[in-house]
Amino acid sequence: MESIQAVRGMNDILPDEAGWWRSVEDTARDVFETFGYREIRTPVAEKLELFARSIGESTDIVEKEMYAFQDRNGEWLALRPEATASIVRSYVQHSLHTDSAPQKLYEIGPMFRHERPQKGRYRQFHQIDAEVFGIEGPMIDAEMMHMLSLLMDRIGISGLILNINTLGCPECRQTYRDILKDFLTAKGDQFCPDCLRRRETNPLRVFDCKVEGCRALLESAPLLIDYICKDCRAHFDAVKDYLEKLGTRYEVNPRIVRGLDYYMRTTFELITDRLGAQNAIGGGGRYNGLVRDLGGPDVPAIGFAIGMERLIMLLQQGQPKKAHAPRFFIASLGDAPRVSAFLLVEQLRGRGLEAEMDYEGRSLKSQMRRADKSGARYVLIFGEDELMRRQIRLRDMLTKTQSLLPLDDLIESMLRIDSETIER
Ligand code: AMP
Repeated sequence: MESIQAVRGMNDILPDEAGWWRSVEDTARDVFETFGYREIRTPVAEKLELFARSIGESTDIVEKEMYAFQDRNGEWLALRPEATASIVRSYVQHSLHTDSAPQKLYEIGPMFRHERPQKGRYRQFHQIDAEVFGIEGPMIDAEMMHMLSLLMDRIGISGLILNINTLGCPECRQTYRDILKDFLTAKGDQFCPDCLRRRETNPLRVFDCKVEGCRALLESAPLLIDYICKDCRAHFDAVKDYLEKLGTRYEVNPRIVRGLDYYMRTTFELITDRLGAQNAIGGGGRYNGLVRDLGGPDVPAIGFAIGMERLIMLLQQGQPKKAHAPRFFIASLGDAPRVSAFLLVEQLRGRGLEAEMDYEGRSLKSQMRRADKSGARYVLIFGEDELMRRQIRLRDMLTKTQSLLPLDDLIESMLRIDSETIER
């Protein structure tokens, strides 16, 4: 019978890989919690309207990439393409703003976008997301980018470049929008049909275009950063100043516009030159108007998301696979010894020692082969004779030495050995 394959662009994370994922997640939790962030977990599906209203009707994500569907009641839902909108929805729904302290939140989980799958771009992917609500000033912008850089250091990824930009506020953006529109109009229909449409609906989105010709034309486009108002400039200057004080390296890149409409003022991306076309590891920015636009109070906010697949690809480059090995392997010969082995592994596990055994009564030779392959440092061998003498044979797979141990205080001996020696 033909086997069933996973959905295109949605990947399994196999046991050999899962260790990388867990270690990245653990490090993120650790770093975030040091900075006062608390975990939030929101559903993977939301009402479609939430994303249309927050990310923007004329963004690529909403127009082309959403996993939207009607459920059995006819309600339009969507699998979340990103986490910010859901977190804002939850923040408003549960009145988290009534807590006088600012809220620092993080979420880790799968996101869904119907993009064309390729290396580093999938339809189900995973993000580590951090958001702060209730802080207006530039200090938190710098702190957040600093935290992101620190997280990369702790995970062990170097050579990333933090690109920063400012998108101004809705007022300065309005002025710029007209200037950009004039520029686009002057170029006539040299732009792709998508860009021509963007020119009318949402001109800033032309900077998301991946078509080479459009990118080349945009080289000479006017830049938003040259048109921002006094307050937005002061905010941006202060962010840069705090970054310098924290020793966080950055580059100003006036072309970062991000693919979502809700951003304003500070925006940033973490870029690598080691992954080909998919060069953004993560990005984020300020979104002061979004909480209000989603029915909440006028609370300033800022956040970022990192893509885990790309992060792990970078981490794995040039590094050997992390093999996982049990500490003890119990080999047994005969039915009664096999039952004793069965009880022994449970006792070892009960004391927190990782142990594995042969359940199927194979030959000693094949059990030893499996023990060796498992990477276990110690093999405990149970035979009828040993059992009668209430003894067990211990083989150290690293030093290749054997000894006989009394069965009686075996668990205590194993705990001692475990604490005194290293893995293979
Ligand atoms: P965005 O919300 O689009 O800025 O995405 C933030 C990060 O998520 C990106 O920098 C990527 O690392 C990751 N990401 C976004 N879309 C995908 C995708 N389709 N597949 C894998 N990673 C993605």
